[in-house]
Amino acid sequence: MAIFAKCSICRKEIPFGGQYYRCTVRSCNMGKDRLYFCSEKCWEAHLPTARHKNASFVIEQAPDEPSKQ
Ligand SMILES: [Zn+2]
Ligand SMILES: [Zn+2]
Repeated sequence: MAIFAKCSICRKEIPFGGQYYRCTVRSCNMGKDRLYFCSEKCWEAHLPTARHKNASFVIEQAPDEPSKQ
């Protein structure tokens, strides 16, 4: 099964077509170190290490298919 990403906290796999949680802070969504979370709990676990002043999360839908080259 194709994996879209792994949770940045617990390493749980997020499949294509599944849902994931994303931090709204810009620096968490840039470059190779962008963060994905499998659940609200994992997003919360990320907060103490990130020291955000104002953070929220959004639920995103992973794309349906791995992009074909
Ligand atoms: Zn997780
Ligand atoms: Zn963040």
